[in-house]
Amino acid sequence: MTDKLDFMREELEAAQAEKRYINIRTMDSPADAWMVVDGKKVLNFCTNNYLGLANHSEIKAAAKKAVEEWGVGPGAVRTIAGTQRLHVECERRLAEFKRVEAALLVQSGFCANQAAIPPLVGRDKESGAQDCIFSDRLNHASIIDGARLSGAKIIVFEHRDPADLEAKIKEHLPNFRRGLMITDGVFSMDGDIAPLDKLYEVAAKYDVLTMVDDAHGEGVLGQGRGIVAHFGLEGKFDVEIGTLSKAFGVMGGVIAGKSVVVDYIRQKARPNLFSSALTPADTAACMAAVDHVEAHPELVEKLWENAEYFKAGIQKLGIDTGRTETPIVPVMLGEVKLAKEFSARLFEYGVFAMALGFPTVPQGQARIRVMNTAAHTRDDLDKGLEIFEKVARELGVI
Ligand SMILES: *Cc1c(COP(=O)(O)O)cnc(C)c1O
Repeated sequence: MTDKLDFMREELEAAQAEKRYINIRTMDSPADAWMVVDGKKVLNFCTNNYLGLANHSEIKAAAKKAVEEWGVGPGAVRTIAGTQRLHVECERRLAEFKRVEAALLVQSGFCANQAAIPPLVGRDKESGAQDCIFSDRLNHASIIDGARLSGAKIIVFEHRDPADLEAKIKEHLPNFRRGLMITDGVFSMDGDIAPLDKLYEVAAKYDVLTMVDDAHGEGVLGQGRGIVAHFGLEGKFDVEIGTLSKAFGVMGGVIAGKSVVVDYIRQKARPNLFSSALTPADTAACMAAVDHVEAHPELVEKLWENAEYFKAGIQKLGIDTGRTETPIVPVMLGEVKLAKEFSARLFEYGVFAMALGFPTVPQGQARIRVMNTAAHTRDDLDKGLEIFEKVARELGVI
C-alpha cells in the first residue's frame, strides 16, 4: 500500500543517508559569546550577533518597558489598526540612521525582500509588459524568492562584476519595460563586499532602479551605518533593505529610501497589508539597538579588531580564509565530509562553529564559517584558535 506521505518519508530518509539532513542544535541560553548548546557550554562562532546586542541589558530593558506600556502584540495588520506610535517612531529612527528620507519596518529581512521587490517590477496583467531584474549570481535566497514572486524576468550577472552587469543590461533592457538591479552588500558565505560604487554607476547610466540588501553590512561597515555609508552613496540607492536580526540583535526588516519609494511600497507590499507588524517589545528593542550602535562606535572597532586577530591566527596555521573582507571568516577545508567532521570535533572540544557545504557553497569549497563578534574577548579568541589548531592537526589539515 502506498501512502500519500511516502514521498516525504523517502526524501527524509535519503537526506539522512546522504548526510544532507539538517540537524538543528538547541540553544539553552541567550545568543552570546558563550552559550549552552545541547546542554554543553561552548564558545560561539555561529550567530550573526556582531555587536553582542542580542542579550544586552539596555536593549532588554527597552523591550520590557515597551511590554508594560504597549502590551505584547499590535492586534491587527498595520493598515487596519496595527500601527502603533512605536512603529512610526522606529521607522523615523531607522530612516535617520540610514540617512534617507523614509523607512518601512517589516517583520524580517527575509520578508523585506518579499515585500519590496514585487511592487517595483513584475508583469503587467493587461498589456503583458514585463520588467527585468539584474541579480548578482550569489544573492541571498530571500532576494531570489522575492524576485521570483514578482513575475519579472530574472537575469543573473556574474558575482561582483560591473562589466558583466553592463553587458547584461545592454543586451536585455531594451526588451523589457523597466529594470531593477539588486545586489547583496556583504555576501554571507564568503564575507566579500559588492563593488557598490561601480554597480551603482552602471545602473545609473542606464536608468535602472537600484536595490541593495545590507543584512551583513549594518553594524559592521561604514562605522556601523552599513555598506551605503561605507561607499559614501547615502541617498543614492532607490531601495535599501536591512535586517534588525543580525548586528542589531533583535528581529525585523527594513525597507528604506526616498519618501516616494517607501510610500509606494507601503501601499503595495503584501506583507505590510496582510500580516501583522512586529511586537512592541521587538520594535522598542530595535530602536534601542539603533541608538546603541550610534552611541558606541567602539563596538564596531572591537568587532573588526577581533575579526582581524582571528583571521590572522587561522592564516598563521596555513589555512586559507578565502576572499573575505569582513568579520565573516571562512575556514576553507574543501570536502563536505571533512568540514562536518571538523565542526563536530570543534564542538566536542567546546567550540560551536558551523560547517557549510554544497549546495550552500560550491562543490569542493566546504568550510567552517566563523562569525566574529565584539562580544568575544581576546582570551576567547585565543582559546578558539587553540582548538582550531588542535582539530586541524588531528584531522591532518595541517
Ligand atoms: C540574513 C539575511 C536576510 C534575512 O534576514 P532575517 O531578518 O533573518 O529574515 C536577508 N537578506 C540577507 C542578505 C541576509 O543575509
